[in-house]
Amino acid sequence: MAYFHGHQFFMEVSGTKARGAETLLHQLDYSVLQQCMHCGMCLPTCPTYVETKMERNSPRGRIALMRAIADGEMKPHKAFGDEMYYCLGCLACMTACPAGVNYVELFEASRAEVERSHVLRGSKRTFWRWLTLDVLFMRPRLLRLVGVLMRWYQRSGLESLVRKLGLTRLAPADLRRLEPQSPRMADKFSHQLISPDEAPRDGKPKYRVALLTGCVQDLVFSHVNRDTADVLLANGCEVITPPVQPCCGSLHAHNGEPNMARELARRQLDLFDVESLDAIITNAGGCGSHLKHYSHLLHDDSRYAKRAALWDSKVKDIHEWLVQIGFRKPTAPCGVSEVTYHESCHLCHGQRITAQPRQVLSAIPDLKVKELPESNWCCGSAGIYNITQPEQSAKLLERKLCNIEKTGAPAVATSNPGCHLQLAFGIAHPHQGGVCREVTQPVSLLAQAYRAEQGMGLPALAK
Ligand code: SF4
Ligand code: SF4
Repeated sequence: MAYFHGHQFFMEVSGTKARGAETLLHQLDYSVLQQCMHCGMCLPTCPTYVETKMERNSPRGRIALMRAIADGEMKPHKAFGDEMYYCLGCLACMTACPAGVNYVELFEASRAEVERSHVLRGSKRTFWRWLTLDVLFMRPRLLRLVGVLMRWYQRSGLESLVRKLGLTRLAPADLRRLEPQSPRMADKFSHQLISPDEAPRDGKPKYRVALLTGCVQDLVFSHVNRDTADVLLANGCEVITPPVQPCCGSLHAHNGEPNMARELARRQLDLFDVESLDAIITNAGGCGSHLKHYSHLLHDDSRYAKRAALWDSKVKDIHEWLVQIGFRKPTAPCGVSEVTYHESCHLCHGQRITAQPRQVLSAIPDLKVKELPESNWCCGSAGIYNITQPEQSAKLLERKLCNIEKTGAPAVATSNPGCHLQLAFGIAHPHQGGVCREVTQPVSLLAQAYRAEQGMGLPALAK
């Protein structure tokens, strides 16, 4: 059968069988591996399969490979590692699958197996993974310090000088390629814009919620965090925002480091008094998808398992929460007349939240929401995919930009910092005649509308 072609390829590459060898895929509940019935319904929704039309680049092909390893028919190999990192982890296959295959669990276990077995070992790869996953994203204060240094480099004129003199040519090829995509650091980070405890101006708060400020969101889009706090305040929420917060661990879980992901989950649980909160709010689709599954991550940790289950029940995406509490419709326009909406993969496929962001946008007076063709097709950001797979990422971005142009909207809204960065990079290098000039987020447009009601600027609505 066609779906075995990819498997066969890997059997040839892999060589000898490894029956009985212990891998992380062996340790999965076997029923998860058995769910796939090979129907192929997921194939047209998988961006990598659509690009190559090769079975091994499809969800069905990848699951066959995972199962071959779990069954001991194949041992982990470099080609298997490459395949697992060619997968975007976009989870479009989960939405399409009639059998309810838990692809995210298979995907995370497979990448963890790739790292455990060192089949992609290389000094450069090891160094970058160590620097980012082990060092920077485990230490929020250090990450902020790097953000401050980058901001100084960008604002002091040094960056312009380096570019003007062509000194970027001296950098290693990888850094040279990434340099134009480096995000602009925000003038202020979240802790400088949001107080640890803010309450609505009028009346007793109806809800007490925590706001998760994220990592990239904190350094690059801190204004979105301020907007989120303002929207929550305008809807009767007291907002608790610890000034220093750990990474949620999604980057680690999706990149084969479950132990670090577990450690970060424990730190989150230690930071918040979960019982006292009505909700824990995230405004980043990629983080939210992971944050809602701490109980799975910590199920065998007797100290944390119960708290993790309570945590999961309280984590809400901002749009989900706003619709749940019946958010107040603003009476003033937001200053943008037309917008289209790009769905973050982990918001729509990971959390199944599709209607709520559109409801938020539709509630804003005089804002025309134009539906985006293929709105739930990955933009190519996919965590660090644009760094690890630049060619495929560029193709997906191109496809997304073409669709955005078809809407004729001058602005595109999204709700994940990775998508926001990718789209902003794309529209800064527009096709001829590109009309979309702004990337924003639904919650920012809602905050703008609330502020317009009161003629207020930042910071707004807090005591
Ligand atoms: S996660 Fe995305 S890229 Fe990976 S198999 Fe599923 S649909 Fe394809
Ligand atoms: S749709 Fe689901 S069951 Fe069908 S091939 Fe894809 S993963 Fe397997």
